[in-house]
Amino acid sequence: MIFRDLHKNIVWENEKESIYKKNESDVEQALKNNKRDLEDFKALISPAAAPYLETMANLSNKLTMKRFGKTVQMYIPIYLSNECSNHCVYCGFNHANKIDRITLNDEQILAEMEVVKSYGFQHVLLVTGEHKTKAGVEYLKHAIQLLKPHFSLISLEVQPLETEEYKILAEEGLNTVYVYQETYNKLNYNNYHPKGKKADFNYRLETPDRLGNAGVHKIGLGVLLGLEDWRTDTFFTALHLKYLEKNYWKTKYSISFPRLRPHEGGFVPNHNLTERELVQLICAYRIFDEEVELSISVRESPKFRDNCIKFGITSMSAGSKTEPGGYTANNKALKQFMEDDQRTPSEIMQMIKQQGYEVVWKDWDKFLQ
Ligand code: SF4
Repeated sequence: MIFRDLHKNIVWENEKESIYKKNESDVEQALKNNKRDLEDFKALISPAAAPYLETMANLSNKLTMKRFGKTVQMYIPIYLSNECSNHCVYCGFNHANKIDRITLNDEQILAEMEVVKSYGFQHVLLVTGEHKTKAGVEYLKHAIQLLKPHFSLISLEVQPLETEEYKILAEEGLNTVYVYQETYNKLNYNNYHPKGKKADFNYRLETPDRLGNAGVHKIGLGVLLGLEDWRTDTFFTALHLKYLEKNYWKTKYSISFPRLRPHEGGFVPNHNLTERELVQLICAYRIFDEEVELSISVRESPKFRDNCIKFGITSMSAGSKTEPGGYTANNKALKQFMEDDQRTPSEIMQMIKQQGYEVVWKDWDKFLQ
């Protein structure tokens, strides 16, 4: 059985109803339990948990301290290509958008590397649009080979690949793959992903299974918050996480919180979640799963990012540019989304230290595997 088989037997509307029916005593029980299950997670993300936010935040902080200490891991993306054959309605790289398309060559990649290294980063996230020929597996393999001598940890956020392809990249030094389902609502999925390979809901859904089988060290999950009811979508993410932890127990996991913002690309999100709800969600994940990495990007505001460290976030990007060549040539027209937190890595580092936390640039070496 793979996750697709589990997913097809679980009805979106039933789960949604069950979340919205949770009451105060379900929330209190979830907070009291020593071991928590998916019903507890539902209670913690439900509207009934909103008045318990302070209690949740304190518990989340305590659990994070116990497992991670006062540390925040730092990473930075390098956008290698904005070529994309998909038509995601919420994204600036959408194939139909008439923007300049760029795929960085060796010289340009190394120039980006020099800037990023000068900031102190050891963890780099390589990002591309989804284009099989312009940024396919050979291109990615070459980019990893080029960058491996310069970083201790290389992650990817690119098109879903086959198991054998992931194995090849893992051999080259790939550590982590982030692959977001965007939404687990199969019925509505194609409203947002009408054309291109990404329109195949099941192929994307099966990707973490392929990553688990390929033995990739860490898998990052998430949904695009705002596309569909965020509570139901994050319940499915938690279900996916538990399934993966059980079936690929040697693998590490990470959850990200990409939140759609009304001003991005003209797309208006159907299901906004407020900053207060995002805090509730972060705390709910930590209380539900003490081991999972929780990661926040520069999509969020400086004030929010400053505060969310103490709620359970353990990984953070800083100084990110979301266009290919962004660190060496500032071309805003090529951006995937506007970064809300535009502070420099050094400013972020100061902010983290001022809160009494340690900045972790490197927590991984291949020989540890
Ligand atoms: S979200 Fe990804 S796959 Fe979709 S258009 Fe943007 S870059 Fe392409």
